[in-house]
Amino acid sequence: MALTLESGLRELPGIGGARAARLAKLGLATVGDLLGYYPRSYEDRTKISTIAAAPEEVPVCVAALVAETPRVSHIRKGLELVKVKAADETAVMTVTFFNQAYVRDALRLGESYIFYGKVERQGRGRQMTNPVFEREGAARFTGCIMPVYPLTAGISNNLLAGLARRCVDECAGQVPELLPEEVRLAHSLAQVEFSCRNIHFPESWEALEIARRRLIFEEFFLLSCGMSLLRTGRDRGAGPGVERRDLAPFLSLLPFSFTGAQRRTVDEAAADMASGRPMNRLVQGDVGSGKTAVAAACAWLAWQSGWQSAMMAPTEILAEQHFRSLSALLSPAGMKVGLLTGSMKAAEKRKAKAALAAGEVDLMVGTHALLSEGVEFHKLGLVITDEQHRFGVAQRAALAAKADGGLRPHVLVMSATPIPRTLALIVYGDLDVSVIDELPPGRTPVETFVVGEDKRQRMYSFVRKLVAEGRQAYIVCPAVEENPDGEGAFGGLADLKAVTTYAETLKTQVFPDLRVAFVHGKMKPRDKDAVMSTFSAGDIDVLVSTTVIEVGVDVPNAALMIVENAERFGLSQLHQLRGRVGRGKHKSYCVLMTATHSQDSRARLKVLASTTDGFKIAEEDLKLRGPGDFFGSRQHGLPQLHIADLAGDVRLLKEAQQAARDLLEADPGLEKRKHRPLLERVKRMFSDNPDIFN
Ligand code: ADP
Ligand code: MG
Repeated sequence: MALTLESGLRELPGIGGARAARLAKLGLATVGDLLGYYPRSYEDRTKISTIAAAPEEVPVCVAALVAETPRVSHIRKGLELVKVKAADETAVMTVTFFNQAYVRDALRLGESYIFYGKVERQGRGRQMTNPVFEREGAARFTGCIMPVYPLTAGISNNLLAGLARRCVDECAGQVPELLPEEVRLAHSLAQVEFSCRNIHFPESWEALEIARRRLIFEEFFLLSCGMSLLRTGRDRGAGPGVERRDLAPFLSLLPFSFTGAQRRTVDEAAADMASGRPMNRLVQGDVGSGKTAVAAACAWLAWQSGWQSAMMAPTEILAEQHFRSLSALLSPAGMKVGLLTGSMKAAEKRKAKAALAAGEVDLMVGTHALLSEGVEFHKLGLVITDEQHRFGVAQRAALAAKADGGLRPHVLVMSATPIPRTLALIVYGDLDVSVIDELPPGRTPVETFVVGEDKRQRMYSFVRKLVAEGRQAYIVCPAVEENPDGEGAFGGLADLKAVTTYAETLKTQVFPDLRVAFVHGKMKPRDKDAVMSTFSAGDIDVLVSTTVIEVGVDVPNAALMIVENAERFGLSQLHQLRGRVGRGKHKSYCVLMTATHSQDSRARLKVLASTTDGFKIAEEDLKLRGPGDFFGSRQHGLPQLHIADLAGDVRLLKEAQQAARDLLEADPGLEKRKHRPLLERVKRMFSDNPDIFN
């Protein structure tokens, strides 16, 4: 039966239920999936040599005749050798295989094979160890550029390459061309069939480059189209009317005056809210830049025009903290601020919900609980989410859907994660961006040190000294990712055990006389919050933790941040952690402990000691580590990229963005018939978050 892109992989020879299940783990169900599963690298098997002329350093292909019947020997238990002599017209070599018993029957005396491997010299003899081999004349994976695919248990590269070979041969011509002809020509991009063939089985290295360039462009192009559709989608419809008015009555009640950056940001948001369309704005501001007051000002403006606001925080403790600070800022103006979290008693929750529905609450602060069924607003006009990276696009949409009368509320997203400008457009492509690039006056920067193991005892003494002065300290260890699917390198039970043991040692041996507590991401939220509240109240001196404290927690009395194994964190993450101290009037310190002797790692950490500019740090991070830190978590709601690299291919990204913009200008909804496959593909790319196309 002829294969199509929709054919299941089980239709291919050799693929039964078990293998199909393993392939499914790689996301491969159909021929089309497999064609879109690109090699992660390639092996140069194009070089053909004679045995005598083979270089020693690099593997080559050699055509040779098997000159004897393979011999099997058992060196010791569990180690089996197959040895055979093979010869061409120039020399003889001994070919040795370890633990590959099948070779004995696969290699036949008197027949010719292509061997791919390194020809090593041994005295006057020559030998090859564990080569790839194929019968001469039937070679598929030698004499070519060999694709190397990402693998999973039970699926070998040869298996995948074999499948890919078959699929490419039969179906490469069926892959739809998604790039409009004029875009392809304008940007000198190869056709889809050529690209499909050559990304899997390159005819040459040049052909591979041409194929890669086209496929990267295509991926960026699809991503850009998707993001632009989000923008146009949101532009449809009217937003709640929020009149522009003088902020003076609000500002006069603040205990400080706004910085220029805060004022500008509120101006931008106010203009959005008065525009008649729903606002969709991201406020980026370094830790401590005063985002809360900006949020308060926006809620005040909405309230002045008769709208309710909601503020959603990622954790209970942050929600409570926002509740306190927003109440302090807004109650003097006469606004009623409420709190709704998952752990509140049922009766309290009921009361809060009733007040909200009746319009007796003007700003409701809460956690995900705000998204739950049964939470009804009286007149929701503005949704604020704090610490954006914890909320996906879909969740923002869910809260926005709580507005009544078909009006989409204004959305203000606050993030303390500085994103390099090159990436902002992608991550926040559906948002307008304001940057608070100025800290309130009078802040002394957190003094930062990079310290080796030899200074550990001095570091402990320093903790003691500050605690004696009445301060509190954090000690952060890299472990126990909060992320449930274990993304990131440091997840795992072994790490948790290490951190737990370390915390125990600190408690019982290093600081037996201090109040030490431990908190980590695998704890129940309720227990975690309990510890955090105790720390916040000043009843814990030293808080040992994994990175759960990274986000937003405000304990002004904490003046010391110690990070263990600092080299294992991204710079931006360290910057966030450092932002947990220096929030009060006390001189604060950040100590980055590291045992690494790598000059690079140390140099990287020193960047942190030399600047407090979050954007600069983020740029540096991007240069050094790639975009993983910004895109490591799929909670952004962004689709995963398969071939393009957001940090590496910036020029192509810009070209693709421009092309997408031009196309959407001509056909805003991609509604023309010829663009339909493109639209379908874009939708599929974003299919993890179907909500965003509502
Ligand atoms: P973040 O941007 O990290 O959320 P916050 O909103 O928590 O920062 O503000 C940090 C601290 O700075 C708070 O204690 C807040 O009261 C204070 N603050 C905010 N704006 C100003 C300002 N313009 N002048 C002085 N202090 C300010
Ligand atoms: Mg904050």
